[in-house]
Amino acid sequence: MAHQINKQLLLAALIGSVTLTQAPAVLAAAAEEAGAALSAVPTNTGKVTADRAFEQFKQQFLSALWKQDPDLAMSAGKFEDAGKLAIPDQAGRDASLAFASRWQQRLGKVARDQLSQNEQTDYVLIQNYLSGIGFYLQQLREYQWNPSVHNIATGFDAILNTEFAPKKQRLQLALARLQGVPAYYAAAMASVHLPSLEHTQLAIRQSAGALEVLGQLEHAAADAGLSKTDQQLLTRRLAAARQAVNDYVGFLHQQEADYRPQTGHSFRIGKALYEGKFKADIQSDLSAEQTYQRALAAKQEAHQRMEQLADQLWGKVMGQQAKPENRLEKIAMVIDKLSEQHIQPQQLYQTIRQQLPVLEQWIQQHDLLTLDTKKPLVVRETPEYERGIAIASIEAPGIFRPHDNTYYNVTPFDGQSAAQIESTLREYNHWVLQILSIHEAIPGHYTQLQHANQSPSVIKTLFGNGAMIEGWAVYSERMMLESGYGGNEPEMWLMYYKWNLRAVCNTILDYQVHTMGMSEAEAKDFLIHQAFQTEAEANGKWQRVQYTSVQLASYFSGYSEILDFRNQLKQELGARFNLKRFHEKFLSYGSAPVGQIKQMMRHDLARTGQL
Ligand code: ZN
Ligand code: ZN
Repeated sequence: MAHQINKQLLLAALIGSVTLTQAPAVLAAAAEEAGAALSAVPTNTGKVTADRAFEQFKQQFLSALWKQDPDLAMSAGKFEDAGKLAIPDQAGRDASLAFASRWQQRLGKVARDQLSQNEQTDYVLIQNYLSGIGFYLQQLREYQWNPSVHNIATGFDAILNTEFAPKKQRLQLALARLQGVPAYYAAAMASVHLPSLEHTQLAIRQSAGALEVLGQLEHAAADAGLSKTDQQLLTRRLAAARQAVNDYVGFLHQQEADYRPQTGHSFRIGKALYEGKFKADIQSDLSAEQTYQRALAAKQEAHQRMEQLADQLWGKVMGQQAKPENRLEKIAMVIDKLSEQHIQPQQLYQTIRQQLPVLEQWIQQHDLLTLDTKKPLVVRETPEYERGIAIASIEAPGIFRPHDNTYYNVTPFDGQSAAQIESTLREYNHWVLQILSIHEAIPGHYTQLQHANQSPSVIKTLFGNGAMIEGWAVYSERMMLESGYGGNEPEMWLMYYKWNLRAVCNTILDYQVHTMGMSEAEAKDFLIHQAFQTEAEANGKWQRVQYTSVQLASYFSGYSEILDFRNQLKQELGARFNLKRFHEKFLSYGSAPVGQIKQMMRHDLARTGQL
C-alpha cells in the first residue's frame, strides 16, 4: 500500500501545503520533542565525541527547520507556528533554497566517517533532504505546472483534527492562519504558468476540499466559546478566504480554457526530470531506466512461473474446461476461478485478527526475525477521515510515545454497492488477504516500524525513505512464501505472483507513461491483460499515474534491491549466511535508503567478517 509520506512532507515543506491523493499506509507519526534524548550506540570514544557534536548539530538544524517550514513542523506534530501560513511565492522559494545551501555547507563540515552508524544514517537523510529542495524548486518546478500543489486544506485539517491542544486554542491558531489565505492564493496565481491540463483539472476538483475545510472551521467555531471580537474576525476572514479560493478556481478555469498542447506543460515529466526525481526520492544505486529494465525482466519471470502454476492447477480448478492457447488468458482464467474463494464482509475483522498470531508463530518457529509481541497490534475500522483508496494501513504512535497502541486500520465496506463489495472480496480473496496482512503487519510495515523505533530519531521519522519502507513490506511477502508459509501450495504462489505483479507493473507503467509516451488505452490494456487487474483498478491507476510520478516505482525499486542484496550476500557468505541475522541487521538502520544500508552493512561485514 502507499506509504511515501516523507515526499508528501517534502512537498508540503516546499509549497506550503499538499493534498494527499491517497491514504498513507504507514503514518510513522510525529516526534513530539525535537530535542528529546536520542540514542546512539557509539563504538569508541572518538565516535562518542563526534556523535555528541552531531547531536547538537541536529538540534540546531531541526529548530531552524521548524521555523523555516511551519507546515513540515505541523506534520511532525509541532504546532507552535501553526498560525503562520507559508506563502508559495518566489521569496518563500528563495528562502528555502538559501536554507538548503546554508545547511548543506554546515553539514559539509561534519566528518561523516567519525560518526557511529546510527548517526551516519541521519547524516545521509539530512543530506538527501537538503539536496532534494534544490531539485524540486529549481528543476522539477512543480509550483509552476501543477496548480494542485497550491491548496490550503491540509494545514487547516491538521489543526482541526489533531488534538494537540484544547479546541479553543486550536481555533485561535486557525484564525491567525486564516489571515494569510488571500496572499497565499495570490502567490499561487503568480506562480502558476502554462500548467498541465490534467493537473489544472485536478486542482479545480481539489479546491472543493479547501472550501470544505473552511466550512468545517466555521462549524467548529460555532460552539467553541470564542470572544465576540474573535467571532467577528473569523467571519470576516472566512469570507475573504472563501473568496480567495473561488478566485483561484476562476483563474484555473481560465487556464483550462487557454490550454494549448503545444505550449502547455505535459503531465508527463519526461526522461531527464524522471531520472532526477527518481534519484531525489528513491535514492537507489540504480537509475530509473535500470530499475525499469529489471521490472521488465521480473514481469517475464512472473508470467513464466504463473503459466507453470496455472497448468499445474488446471484440472483441479477448471475441471474439463478447454485450456486456451494464450498463456495470459489461461492464467487469468485460473485466477478468476480461484478468486471465488473469499470471506464474507462480516468476517473481515475476525479473519484478520486470527491471522496475526498465526503469522507471528510462523516467524518464530522458522527463526526469521525477532518480534516484539508484548503489545498486540490493534485491528480496527479505518477512522472516517483517513479513508482513502487503500483497504488497509498501519498507524503507529509517535516515536516518543512508544506505549500508545499501533493500529491496523482496515476499511469497512459501508456504502459500497453489492457489486463493488464482491469485487473487493474477490481481489482480497482467501490467499491475498493473508499476503495483505504480511505486507501491512507482520513481518511487513508493523515489524519494520518496531525495529526502526529501537533507535528513535526525529530525522529518521521525518525523512524516512519510502522505497525502503515499501520495499521491505514487498520483500517480506516473498520471504514468507519462500520459508514455506502457505504450504508451498500452487494457489498461494499464483496469487502471490498476481499481487507482486502490481508492484512490478506499476514501475513499468510509471516509466513508460512519463518517459515513453504510453497512451491511456495502452496503459489500461497493459494493466488488465498483463497484470490481471480489474477495469476499475486500471482506471484508478491511470488517474494516479497522471498526477504522480516516481512514487509508483518505489515499491518494486526497494523490493528488488533488497532481494538482490540478500541473494548476493547468501552467495558470498555461503554457510556463514544467516537469514535472521540478515533481516535484523538490515532493519537496525531504520528507514534509510536501501543503497545506504547496503553500504553500511558491507562496511561492517568487511570489519567483522560476519553479518
Ligand atoms: Zn505498503
Ligand atoms: Zn463471491
